[in-house]
Amino acid sequence: MNLFEETRAKAFYDIVTDTMKANNKKLLRQLPSVSSLLEHEEVVEWLNEFPRPAIVASLKEALEGFRASILEGEIESEVEVEDILDSAEAELERRTEPSLRNVINATGIILHTGLGRAPLCDAAIEAIVEGASGYCNLEYDLTTGSRGKRQDHVAELLAEITGAEAATVVNNNAAATYLILQVLAAGKEVVVSRGQLVEIGGSFRLPDIMSASGAMLREVGTTNRTRLRDYEQAINDRTAILMLAHPSNFRTVGFTESVPLGPMVELAHEYNLLAVHDLGSGVMIDPSELGMGGEPDVLSSVASDADLTCFSGDKLLGGPQCGVIVGTAELVEKINQSPLARTYRVGKLTLLALEATLRAYLDGEHVIEQIPTLSMIDASTDKLAERAAKLSEQLMAELPKERFYVCSDVSFAGGGSMPDQEIPTVVVQWQPAGCSTDEVVSALREAEVPVVARVRDDAICFDLRTIRESDFEGLVTSVMDAVMEVGEEDEEDSNDLSLPVV
Ligand SMILES: *Cc1c(COP(=O)(O)O)cnc(C)c1O
Repeated sequence: MNLFEETRAKAFYDIVTDTMKANNKKLLRQLPSVSSLLEHEEVVEWLNEFPRPAIVASLKEALEGFRASILEGEIESEVEVEDILDSAEAELERRTEPSLRNVINATGIILHTGLGRAPLCDAAIEAIVEGASGYCNLEYDLTTGSRGKRQDHVAELLAEITGAEAATVVNNNAAATYLILQVLAAGKEVVVSRGQLVEIGGSFRLPDIMSASGAMLREVGTTNRTRLRDYEQAINDRTAILMLAHPSNFRTVGFTESVPLGPMVELAHEYNLLAVHDLGSGVMIDPSELGMGGEPDVLSSVASDADLTCFSGDKLLGGPQCGVIVGTAELVEKINQSPLARTYRVGKLTLLALEATLRAYLDGEHVIEQIPTLSMIDASTDKLAERAAKLSEQLMAELPKERFYVCSDVSFAGGGSMPDQEIPTVVVQWQPAGCSTDEVVSALREAEVPVVARVRDDAICFDLRTIRESDFEGLVTSVMDAVMEVGEEDEEDSNDLSLPVV
């Protein structure tokens, strides 16, 4: 470009931008004000349903969006009031609907931490509903009329079920581990095998919890092999605890060796030390009943004479989020007496749900059918196949153009339990006709009843292991909505393509 052409091009550019700027200014001036929109009959109707501040904020947000689009040059003609109201209404709905919502877990992962881990049993739900609506004897002894202890409502039950002398409950298992270390080993050494320095879900790392508690970590052995004499050689004047942590979410395979709880407890007691077992997921029935032979359980841990055992309430136990500590009366009392115990104490809703869940364990014969996490693991593939057939029939009845197949597949327990154990399962598989699987998956997530599914070989899988029959109706509706939404978008996209390019 020579100088003349450059100057001409710049002049042309200036004229175009000036015209654009003038047009943008005009468009901005034409945008209605919030106060005039508030008088629009549609908005007046919203006032019957939604709080005024939320309406005002949504109108402002919508106007701000259009203003920004005008300035970006994305809008070239006057904005319709209807468009502003549509955008404000969508924003209003987003602002006023609860953030925590029920979700259909179609992933097959029973203890999905992102989806709230264990669903509660009916008795626990009833207990929460009843207990939450009024007062309860949380810290009040009804026989004497004096102050009681909140722990008493579950401590005896826990002792009875697990065979331990005493028990206490805190906010989660991370808190349980921290308290044990802080109260019993601050300033002292805790011996742990290198192969058990676990990280769970990103924020629980045993070495970090240890250093925060003031206890000093003494790692022994190697990643794949630790022997009893490794523990023994590490013991010195500063040692307080020998600790066994369940490597919940990973397995070392091949040339491996670890010390089982029994011999570790014996060694600890020989040297007058404490043996602590961080069990992770508190299985409280015989694991082999659920085909989980090899998964450590609470009863065996207590029977091995561990001084303290801790585990989560919302993993395989199937209760509310909490951390349970069981063990000797003396140590449990020490933990309860700690000023820090108060900072991790659980609320009445947790205790109501936990007590009801534990009562189901007293009834050994029917416990699996009562506790959802256990019955989900226990469900046979025959039963899942029957339910899958029912679900796919309902889907096909509503969406005759789509194809749904019942297939076998594998899933995992999740929540750091049995990471290497594939559980055979049955899924309804669906490859949406004519639209992208990814788009449908995200539309399902954002549906009114959100559905979280897994994708395999570009097909969406609804895993019947975690879908209850009461979820079917919501799932079918969400699938219909997703097909409609993604289908419409695709139509719009093709319209866009057919626009003449100017
Ligand atoms: C899950 C787990 C934890 C953490 O328990 P939260 O209840 O999630 O705090 C700690 N240790 C082990 C071994 C676990 O599996």
